[in-house]
Amino acid sequence: MGKMINRQEKTDVILIGAGVMSATLGSLLKELVPEWEIKVFEKLANAGEESSNEWNNAGTGHAALCELNYTSEKSDGSIDISKALQINEQFQLSRQFWSYLVNSNLISNPQDFIMPIPHMSLVHGEENVSFLKKRFKALSNNPLFQGMEFSDDPEKLKEWIPLIMEGRISNEPIAATKIDSGTDVNFGALTRMLFDHLESKNVEINYQHEVRDLKRTKDGSWELKVLDMETGNIVYHTAKFVFIGGGGGSLPLLQKTGIPESKQVGGFPVSGLFMVCNNPEVVEQHHAKVYGKAKVGAPPMSVPHLDTRYIDNKKTLLFGPFAGFSPKFLKTGSNLDLIGSVKPNNLFTMLAAGVKEMSLTKYLIQQVLLSNEKRLEELREFIPNAQLEDWDIVVAGQRVQVIKDTETGGKGTLQFGTEVISAADGSIAALLGASPGASTAVHVMLEVLEKCFPEQIKEWEAKIKEMIPSYGISLMDHPELIQEIHTSTAETLGLTEKELVYS
Ligand SMILES: Cc1cc2nc3c(=O)[nH]c(=O)nc-3n(C[C@H](O)[C@H](O)[C@H](O)COP(=O)(O)OP(=O)(O)OC[C@H]3O[C@@H](n4cnc5c(N)ncnc54)[C@H](O)[C@@H]3O)c2cc1C
Repeated sequence: MGKMINRQEKTDVILIGAGVMSATLGSLLKELVPEWEIKVFEKLANAGEESSNEWNNAGTGHAALCELNYTSEKSDGSIDISKALQINEQFQLSRQFWSYLVNSNLISNPQDFIMPIPHMSLVHGEENVSFLKKRFKALSNNPLFQGMEFSDDPEKLKEWIPLIMEGRISNEPIAATKIDSGTDVNFGALTRMLFDHLESKNVEINYQHEVRDLKRTKDGSWELKVLDMETGNIVYHTAKFVFIGGGGGSLPLLQKTGIPESKQVGGFPVSGLFMVCNNPEVVEQHHAKVYGKAKVGAPPMSVPHLDTRYIDNKKTLLFGPFAGFSPKFLKTGSNLDLIGSVKPNNLFTMLAAGVKEMSLTKYLIQQVLLSNEKRLEELREFIPNAQLEDWDIVVAGQRVQVIKDTETGGKGTLQFGTEVISAADGSIAALLGASPGASTAVHVMLEVLEKCFPEQIKEWEAKIKEMIPSYGISLMDHPELIQEIHTSTAETLGLTEKELVYS
């Protein structure tokens, strides 16, 4: 143990965690109020090493182009597309902000973090084919989903996805949709770029600094107890506004604030695994993100997909994620995280969730116990000729799903979305949950600004609109704006060329 040093330093803003969320909030604030002093505390040695890292998430620019869980079938057989529209709109905000950063030379080389890749949905069986056809009809008329194609013709599918069609013997009906304007986003690279940019703007980034505790001071600021992991010293820092962007680590920190909004909230960690193809010949035969349909009983975050990815300047192929159970809140976390998060105020919420989600827990535990051969079986539903030796296993990040009491679900309801929790006076906010995640970081961080800075937001509106022209406007109601934004962001981010050569 090093010696204790008690040093008080006051700053305008502290961001806890160096993931994509803090990176996005910091970048927004730097443009809106450049004079504010911002400090970042991250317990690891670099930015974007947890969920935001490229190997820890699936890198899908979620715009609801291919994820079937965003369009559900209503009891009358029609398709509810409201969630898909919402997620698509949110992704457009991210595209616009990233384009603004590129156009303003605040970041460069967008191809290092975003690449065009067709997004596809693939289903088998008569019922699923009919669902996909209905989904296609409901979406393809909407300008946000322009360019979506549908086919149930095996010859056409062979052109689109040769690797998936080769060796397929079943004559079960099969169908797919394809939209070329999908993206693969390297959120790790984006996070690192944004922190480089923030550093160049004099934001102080303290790596290997773990936030241990938070206390409100008399004047309504927050005092953070921070462990300098290199020296072992404890340092105290104070800020008027704190964002808890600790990813899976946010819940324990939120609980330490003691704010009423932090009560009756719990977290349920879901772990993940990917299979990564190590055979370049196989990698070359596929060029799309192909999402299937979740199996009955499986949670929405475990929908398997076969994805072309661009990581470390190389085209790769990932299959998964296989969901599983681990009591850790961060990949680098502790096995005591889950138990430690159970407090007197959320005990009943957690217990209720435990009873309600028995089948999910069972599913996740079964997934953990899957052997490589069993995983290969699942992979073969996508690639009939897959060989085990062509695939390695990588451990992905942890997703801590929010558990809370809701009116519709009752006590201890598991939530699959993201949730901003903030103090009534706006002095502190935390982001919980993991889905749709990094893709909608800009939308979620704008929500943090709206909730925590209700007085300034009016003043900031003009600048926000300069950065994000569709801010405050529903794009669905402005088809002419969709076209304009789509074209200009595609050009700035280098998403226009159809045939990109990437070695
Ligand atoms: C398997 C998987 C697949 C996913 N797929 C997608 C996808 O395809 N598309 C998509 O958009 N999103 C996806 N996501 C979600 C996405 O990765 C997350 O929503 C996003 O990365 C969260 O960013 P963050 O900044 O909140 O957290 P993180 O990136 O986890 O960053 C939090 C940081 O806080 C630090 N920290 C924690 N506690 C402390 C503390 N006490 N003191 C100091 N530092 C601390 C951590 O070390 C970490 O660096 C996926 C996630 C997983 C796990």
